[in-house]
Amino acid sequence: MMTTEEPSRAQPTGSLPHGGVLVDRCLGVEEGAGAASGGVASLVVTPAEGADLRALATGAYSPLTGFMGAKEHQSVVESMRLPDGTLWPIPVCLGLPDGVRVDAGRLALRDERGGLLGVLEVAEVFERDRTAEAELVYGTTDPAHPGVARVLGSPSRAVAGPVQAVVAPLAGPVGARALTPAETRAAFAERGWATIVGFQTRNPVHRAHEYLMKCALETVDGLLLHPLVGPTKEGDVPAEVRMAAYEAVLGYFPPERVLLAALVAPMRYAGPREAILHALVRKNYGCTHFIVGRDHAGVGSYYGPFDAQELLASLPAEDLGITPLRFDNAFYCRRCGAMATGKTCPHPDREHVALSGTQVRSMLASGQLPPPEFSRAEVAELLIEASRA
Ligand SMILES: [Zn+2]
Repeated sequence: MMTTEEPSRAQPTGSLPHGGVLVDRCLGVEEGAGAASGGVASLVVTPAEGADLRALATGAYSPLTGFMGAKEHQSVVESMRLPDGTLWPIPVCLGLPDGVRVDAGRLALRDERGGLLGVLEVAEVFERDRTAEAELVYGTTDPAHPGVARVLGSPSRAVAGPVQAVVAPLAGPVGARALTPAETRAAFAERGWATIVGFQTRNPVHRAHEYLMKCALETVDGLLLHPLVGPTKEGDVPAEVRMAAYEAVLGYFPPERVLLAALVAPMRYAGPREAILHALVRKNYGCTHFIVGRDHAGVGSYYGPFDAQELLASLPAEDLGITPLRFDNAFYCRRCGAMATGKTCPHPDREHVALSGTQVRSMLASGQLPPPEFSRAEVAELLIEASRA
């Protein structure tokens, strides 16, 4: 009998990390304590900077290995590229408050209670052009914009250099879901998924977003439901409540087709530029496709509804390395008797079950369930309970 060489049936799993290599700069607790001992100066970082540090160390921000210096900051702000030409849309900087002296060498990065988060090898201290950053990255210098407020409120000096971080498991039901890119990649491989679509959200998932995820999932192997749980703005639903609501939504997906994980990173509300960042981060988590909705990562009326989709579509596919899936808002249509969007339903608005965010919040606050065509009862009940707490 002729022996034939068994063809390799191993499907490639997921995407290549941005820049080609998944960065890993995680330290064990003891290693971290060692690196920060011996008279090393300390810097207390903000919660947003702490979340960025974790994202840097776990490779969520690959190919970045640390906080940016002057040259990288300018290049990213002005051209959305790192100095070597790699696509990167938003600066990742570490503020250096007045009065904090930094010598060459190492800086221990600590949270507000003094806990050690990681260490930075000081490469450079520079004056951060925060106005240019606000104008070019966020498209506005309006301090009412929550992302701009964070940039303009940062110290004028920034300290740059490669980092290492103690990526300890986080507490609670959210922490248990805070997987690293290496962990989601391993989970995808174990499930045999070759193509994976990522869904970013900072809000509870209602029927409209469930529909978008299902439309996308119809064409790929798996779905990464990947809510951002880092610092968000006032008025956003707390991460613990959202996580319970996402768990409830999982009941409407086959368990072997969906993975729920939490992304610890700050929300910047930078609209189009942040949509690129969100896509690149999901690429690092192993996704091959990424859902981009209407006004993705926007806030207020600073960005047009399709600005983010258009910016992503303008980028060379090989620079992005993950396929954006562009969606319009979804709704339930009474005439269609189904979920739909403007692309798939010809009927007038009066046939659509659509509620504004304000309407939903006021219904939930008064203990009223939104229509089931808008929100799953399990989800709405969790939100009502939370709004009464
Ligand atoms: Zn219709």
